Amino acid sequence: MKKIYSKLGLVTCILLVLSFVLFCINLLKIKGEDETDIEIKKDEEIKEESYDIDYKAGMTINVLCSSTGEVMAMDINDYLRGVLPSEMPPYYDIEALKAQAIVARTYLYRKISDNAHNDGVHICDNFSHCQAFYNKEKIFEIWASKGYDENTRKQYWKNVNEAVVSTNGKIIKYNGEYIKAFFHASSPKKTEDVSQIWSGVHYPYLVSVENHEAEDYPNRTSQVEVSINDLISKVNNIDYSKYDLNNISTLNIHISDYTTSGRVKYIEVCGNKIKAEDLRTYFGLKSTDFTMEVNQNSVLFNVTGYGHGVGMSQVGANYYAKHGMNCEDIIKHYYKGVEISI
Ligand SMILES: [Zn+2]
Repeated sequence: MKKIYSKLGLVTCILLVLSFVLFCINLLKIKGEDETDIEIKKDEEIKEESYDIDYKAGMTINVLCSSTGEVMAMDINDYLRGVLPSEMPPYYDIEALKAQAIVARTYLYRKISDNAHNDGVHICDNFSHCQAFYNKEKIFEIWASKGYDENTRKQYWKNVNEAVVSTNGKIIKYNGEYIKAFFHASSPKKTEDVSQIWSGVHYPYLVSVENHEAEDYPNRTSQVEVSINDLISKVNNIDYSKYDLNNISTLNIHISDYTTSGRVKYIEVCGNKIKAEDLRTYFGLKSTDFTMEVNQNSVLFNVTGYGHGVGMSQVGANYYAKHGMNCEDIIKHYYKGVEISI
């Protein structure tokens, strides 16, 4: 009998241990599933809410206000929410806004890694040196002055917020380095190869690419008329004894060189070359993609596009977004061979 009892005891013990092990396994399984569910829900809640509440990146930068010299410390996401509508119309397609958010974030990171500013300043609000930036209050003021009603302003801010938060932390790299994320408003046919302008430095991701843009973009074409005297005043070393300023044909004004994308590189006046980029600065031409009509007293510049033409075209990004491309495809179209990661 003792043997039977001890056998029964042994079997009971084994069964008990087995039951306990199975119970523990199930418990772990359930706990795991619950935790995953909770995590996903949390993530969704953050994203959904954060389009209404200004979700932070958790990293602070110092932004220089170039007009007052004041340095403003702010969260990176607050900075990007200020850059986005200062650089791109808030009514553009959400994928174009998201592309701009990734570009703006990358532009910031590159400026920081290049030490573009000193004394603890990471970036400034001057669009010609870094990126345009206005704070939320100023942006709402600007929108109000443009006649956008309150609901529209709220919706635009939500779009801006979605673009920044849904791309949180995403940046563009080439060979492991933050790219120089240049962008511009419009280049209706092709973007520019960076080696063709500025200092001539080549970046393999900043080459000329085909571009499509909406034809109703208001700055697609523009004209600037410059008097002959004003044009001549920009030319150095003119031997006036050799030229008759009243006889336009002797001045020999013409386009002398083009870039590989078809923009003007130099024009020639009285045997002297003027950089097309300098003409943009002197006379406010919207781009270097122009033709010239030389008249008796003036030169008429017929200009196509808006901006230097390097990197992402914003009008093009909006076109591609409206035709189904997502933000990462848009970025990869304009910056060749890059990777986008957090
Ligand atoms: Zn700057």
